Formats: sequence, structure tokens, C-alpha cells
Amino acid sequence: CAQLSVPMGRERGWVNVSVQTYQSHRSTSQRIVQQDYTVDENGATLNALARTADSREEEQAAPAASSSSSPVATTNIVIRDWKLSGRRAHIQYDSGEHNFWFHPVVDEGKATSNTPGFPCHRGDIFLKLGMRGARLIPWKLQEGDVFRLGQAYVLVSKIRLTAETEADLLSSFNVAPIPGEFDADIEPDTDLEDEAGESRRPQCYICYEGGAQGDPLINLCQCAGSVKYVHLNCLQRWMQPEGSSAVNTHCPICKEKYPEKAQAMMIRPPAVLFESWSNHRTLKLRHWVSFAQHSTASLGRFTEHNDVVIPDHSVSGEHAFIIQQNGAFWLHDRESSNGSFIRLRAPLRLTFGESFSMKMGKSLLCVHAKRSRWSRLRMRLMALRYGDRQEEDGLSTPLSISGRASTNSLESPSTNRNSRVW
Ligand SMILES: [Zn+2]
Ligand SMILES: [Zn+2]
Repeated sequence: CAQLSVPMGRERGWVNVSVQTYQSHRSTSQRIVQQDYTVDENGATLNALARTADSREEEQAAPAASSSSSPVATTNIVIRDWKLSGRRAHIQYDSGEHNFWFHPVVDEGKATSNTPGFPCHRGDIFLKLGMRGARLIPWKLQEGDVFRLGQAYVLVSKIRLTAETEADLLSSFNVAPIPGEFDADIEPDTDLEDEAGESRRPQCYICYEGGAQGDPLINLCQCAGSVKYVHLNCLQRWMQPEGSSAVNTHCPICKEKYPEKAQAMMIRPPAVLFESWSNHRTLKLRHWVSFAQHSTASLGRFTEHNDVVIPDHSVSGEHAFIIQQNGAFWLHDRESSNGSFIRLRAPLRLTFGESFSMKMGKSLLCVHAKRSRWSRLRMRLMALRYGDRQEEDGLSTPLSISGRASTNSLESPSTNRNSRVW
């Protein structure tokens, strides 16, 4: 071959995919089986092949990968040791953008888990966002996203950016009757001495004051008698104490949990409701986190240092944190031992020069897009001609794709409470 000849389908570049499969039924030396693929601009499909399926199935699919004469010689990437079969993803080359994309298959609404409410499916693909010694990918969280911290799963159940109006609040709470002006005129300030008057005029069990316009007395729990009512503002301060991102969701007196809807309305936005599944999915917890006073919330196993505590031994003491910036919530791994992963729900741009590690069941995928020599040369020529600094391999640029951005686009959270661990 002449040096300048460009392999068909690899003008701009290609994607190296290596699939490592853990096969517990094999002998120790063969436990991890690695298979490497090169994906050209014709793209590839990733197909799961159930372990129980006959190996002939794989042989049948194989010729498609090697037949270069075919105009659509799509590479067939096989992921074995998986209880699921069928297409799980595909890699596509966008000739307009000159980029490869990884498209996961998303099984929305098809519950395959025995755990009630568990949001993930067997074939979900998780992208590694960070781990000790690994590259950090900050990820912009959206409602419905699921991330994994070690073996624990966390759902971004609700994102709340604006507060409800007072009218909305009051219509959903049990509000004490506010004594009208008419009432107050007749018996001014004598109520405290008057037993009957006192029972008619409820007060806040925290500050002992009566209800007021804009700060009514409400009741959200089983408490009765003198502790029945509390000011909206007093309760808000209890639920979300000054200087804390964590939220108290139970009444301190009767220990009853406040109704979900009330919790959501009381928490000062911007706030996020997380739901976590840990200890092999046996423990489900809900965590409201408000970013009204701090732009950072930390997640981990240690009770002391975290806003979201996930009691699972696969979760590091200080595993990850979330930075709130202009109403966006960015997840960062903190060099955790077992890593942080995001469930892929949307196509991922495979930036040239960058490696992406993914998990699918017991298989690991390493995906790396490489720019061809021809393409590098072309870029250098363009740079010479226009004097621009073109995007170079290995350098992140702010990406148009939702969910990703370069690290340096985020402001330093050094002013935050959790800066000590940086
Ligand atoms: Zn009060
Ligand atoms: Zn109570």
C-alpha cells in the first residue's frame, strides 16, 4: 500500500472498542475474556448474546464484520455473558460533524427488576465518570438520570428550581384559621389570660407567636393540642437548618414523616430529590438536598461529612459531590474507590482522542475514537491556512452534547463548605 492511501471508511478516523467480559463459569485463568474491535465510518452495532444462547449465533453474525466488500460493513460487537440478548447500542459516524456517536438503546418503562420502583434495566449502559486514578468527567444531571456510586444506585427523582407561590402552599396544607381583624378589634391582647381565648387562638409551638399574614400557622403531622401548629417559616427553618444542605423530613415531636408533597414545597430551591438503592437494593432512601445556601452537596458513606448519606460498603466515605451552577447540577466523582457511573440515556459524542469506559452488566467496554493520520494532516493544513487553533486530540472543548462539559468551565468551589477535601 502507498503511504498516502486512506483505508476505505477510515478517512477521518475510527473507534477502537475493547470488550472485557467476566465469565464466572470459566476457570480462573480465563475469567476475563477480551475482544477488540475497530469500528470504521460505517458504524457498529453492539449486540448482547445471552450465555445460554448457542455459540453458533455468534458465528452467523461474524461474517458481516469481515466482509469489506459490502457497502454497509457494519461491525458487529458481541457482548457475551449477559442474560439479555439483542441490540444494546450502536456506534454511528456523523459525516456532517465528522464525529462518532455512541447511541445506547434505552428501555424506558420496561421494568425488568424485582425491586419495586427500581429505575434501571438489565441492559442499561453506564458510563464511568470518575474513579481513583481515572479521568474525571463532570456530568450535568437531569431529572430521571440514574447514577451509580460503587454498587449503589441514585435516581435524580425531582429537580426543583422555583418556589411555589404562597397560595399554592396554603391550598395544600392544613392551615390554622387566622383571627380576622373583626375578632382582634373586639378582644385585643387579652387572650393570653383567657383560657377559652387561648384555645381559640392557636400558636406556633416553636416561637409561641400566633399566625400572621404571609407566615400562617400550619400542621403537617399527627401533633395535636398545644403543639399542633407551627409557622410556615419556623417549620422551614427546622426542615432546612441554617448552614446545612440536608433536610429534616420528620416531625421532631411525633416523629411522623411530613407528606412528600409538603416536603417538596417546603424545601428552598434550587433543590434536588434523590432516591438511592443500596445494600444490594434492599435499602431505599429518599434525600432532599437544597442548594439555596450552598452550591455544593456531598455524597458518600460517612454520616458526618455528607449531605446525602448512602450506607453501603461499596460507597466511599466521601464519594462524590454535586455542584449547582445557574440551575444546573454537576456530578463529580471524588477519586472514589469503586467509581461513579451515569446511566446513558442519550447519544454520547465520542470526541477524538478521548477514552470512555462503560459498564454493561458484567462486561466492561473501552471506547476510544482515533483521528486518522490523513485527518490530522488536514487539520494542520487548515490551521496553517486560517491561523485558527483547531481542536487537538486529547483536549476537551466545551461540548454541545447535553450532559458534558470540560472541567475548566466550572467555577472553583473553593468557597464551599466541602472545600477541605479538595
Ligand atoms: Zn413560629
Ligand atoms: Zn408532629
